[in-house]
Amino acid sequence: ECFFHVFETEIHNTIIDNKLFNKGDRVAIGASGGKDSTVLAYVLKLLNDRYSYGLDLVLLSIDEGITGYRDDSLETVKRNRDQYQIPLLIISYKDLYGWSMDDIVKEIGRKNNCTFCGVFRRQALDRGAIMLNVDHIVTGHNADDIAETVLMNILRGDLPRLQRCTSIITNDTSEDSSGIETSKILRSKPFKYTYEKEIVMYAYFKKLDYFSTECIYSPNAYRGHARVFLKDLEAIRRTTIVEGLNKGLPQLGIGHTTKIRRMHEAGNLTSGLSSPASPSTPGDESGVATPSSLASEEKGKVVTHIKDLSRLENMPTLGGA
Ligand code: SF4
Repeated sequence: ECFFHVFETEIHNTIIDNKLFNKGDRVAIGASGGKDSTVLAYVLKLLNDRYSYGLDLVLLSIDEGITGYRDDSLETVKRNRDQYQIPLLIISYKDLYGWSMDDIVKEIGRKNNCTFCGVFRRQALDRGAIMLNVDHIVTGHNADDIAETVLMNILRGDLPRLQRCTSIITNDTSEDSSGIETSKILRSKPFKYTYEKEIVMYAYFKKLDYFSTECIYSPNAYRGHARVFLKDLEAIRRTTIVEGLNKGLPQLGIGHTTKIRRMHEAGNLTSGLSSPASPSTPGDESGVATPSSLASEEKGKVVTHIKDLSRLENMPTLGGA
């Protein structure tokens, strides 16, 4: 019971602290039948009732057309619709694009399947959201997923995505066939700070009805390698997955370089070590944090983090190349 309470309260706090919703919003839950989206649908309904968010919830599922996988998982979503009393819309790649994923794989073979599928799904979700007239799409991406995405973007050297991928809320613009902007749909990830393990435990102990088979096209996915690497890191240090997100440290590397350089030039940083500036640092009346206004405990954490990062940089290249 304590775990349920903490889990639900943390999601509620994430929603409130980040002002994810407005009263009366119509919100589509991207539902695949897997554990993440099933728990998301269950918890959002529960919190919506408990805290009177005033949300109008709908389930939105995309049928990629993967025989033996998506057809089974959609049966789970249909049961969730009845169990949680949330309306459901299913739209398929076949209807939208004339091709199912099975057709595409037959044509191009078993490589880069997730790259195609991911782009199609994103568009399909937008189309579904327009059909449902929703203001907002929520997805079940959790802290582990985000850590994997960060790592993948680093390995690909994709800096624009690296900057965007940790945002809890993003604003998407959709266009009709003539290229005219038709709607702005918010997307958010209420599970940004939630470990995958917690979600599995919650689903298991709540006895939620979810589908746990892996997609037949996923074993070769690039993401799988990032996942294995992160699990290895997590075995060494348990907080690897959310540590940076919770402390705002990703900004140290990708958001505040100019500020860090300015601090360096002003001689406020020693030995190449830098600290994240925080406007809310106590004792800083101007609202602009300086390294000297940071608590020494925080400095210690940053130093440790930077040492860890430099150790990682000195690690041999993956695969021995
Ligand atoms: Fe599509 Fe890849 Fe997900 Fe399968 S694992 S549904 S191919 S994105």
